[in-house]
Amino acid sequence: MQNFIYNGQPARVVFGSGTIARLPEEIERLGLRRVLILATPQQAADARHLADTFGDRAAGVYAKATMHTPVSVTEDAMREVAEREADGLVAVGGGSTTGLAKAIALRTDLPQIVVPTTYAGSEMTPILGETKDGVKVTQSSPKILPEVVIYDVDLTMTLPAAMSGVSGMNAIAHAIEALYARESNPVIGLMAAEAIGALADALPVIAGEPQDREARSRALYGAWLCGICLGSVGMALHHKLCHTLGGTFDLPHAETHTVVLPHALAYNAPAVPAAMAKLRAVLKTDDPATALYDLAERIGAKRALSQIGMPENGIDLAADRALANPYWNPRALEREPIRALIARAHAGEPPQT
Ligand code: NAD
Repeated sequence: MQNFIYNGQPARVVFGSGTIARLPEEIERLGLRRVLILATPQQAADARHLADTFGDRAAGVYAKATMHTPVSVTEDAMREVAEREADGLVAVGGGSTTGLAKAIALRTDLPQIVVPTTYAGSEMTPILGETKDGVKVTQSSPKILPEVVIYDVDLTMTLPAAMSGVSGMNAIAHAIEALYARESNPVIGLMAAEAIGALADALPVIAGEPQDREARSRALYGAWLCGICLGSVGMALHHKLCHTLGGTFDLPHAETHTVVLPHALAYNAPAVPAAMAKLRAVLKTDDPATALYDLAERIGAKRALSQIGMPENGIDLAADRALANPYWNPRALEREPIRALIARAHAGEPPQT
């Protein structure tokens, strides 16, 4: 066995059905007196309903969380934190809401309780991506990591089937890149394999029957483990490519991950035989990249970047940008094969395995 370093991220996790009822207890446990509840405008009513359940410990609801964590929204929320004298944060929602809590915590060190309602996994990472003047800057700090995470399966039941599918594929991408990460280790390998198996089983069931609580539980459990993977080891080609494509063409986050994942895995496959052996076992297939392409179809996701807003004349620009800032990847990054990868993903063709 090779030497390794395992970096456990400290977080208390409460998982299950109906676990949101433990929120007042968790607020009490952290010794908080006035928590500000964060949400997106779409989940404002849920946040207000939740605030009612913990009475005078609720300092108010701030329901303006926005995708990609714009600094202007964070600054607006900071004024609310000060005016309401909040001493803690409760974020209820997906990665956008978690991002806002993290951004406030980075500036104030206020304790955070995060209640995720998608499969994005941000709640398990000390990473924050913020947008200012159209530029997204990512940073990592222990202050960013939430203190408590409450996974309540019941709150994920309303996540629309289409969004559930792509959000789950986004999570799988974290685990796949963790399998071959430079800092990967046996513990992360266990979590990644378990997570990929849980999500690959659950997502097609959810696509057909969004109210299947057992499948929802398996998916949320998998998403939690994928979040740990993302927060524990470095990511490579797949995440960098999605970041570049999303930033350059303003593409939707989870949908971009869903399209690119089979192609990025096919590119790296020859360089990562141990990870591929694990994926073959867990996905029960000889060809994991094609299995992921098929999974995208089974969950009803779009499989072409052209269908989610990338222009055809952007392929060369994307290839240039993907190679502009070199980063670690298990296989060397070469322009022609990377361009071919992007072209296939753009057209929605199967991955080249
Ligand atoms: P999101 O948080 O933007 O949610 C998408 C929409 O779905 C929102 O309108 C939200 O209110 C709604 N929604 C969420 N849960 C719902 C539910 N259960 N029922 C009904 N509607 C629901 O989307 P996301 O994919 O979770 O997060 C994407 C953001 O998270 C991006 O900005 C991405 O960069 C960030 N992210 C960050 C990390 C990290 O580690 N820093 C990791 C993953 C994602």
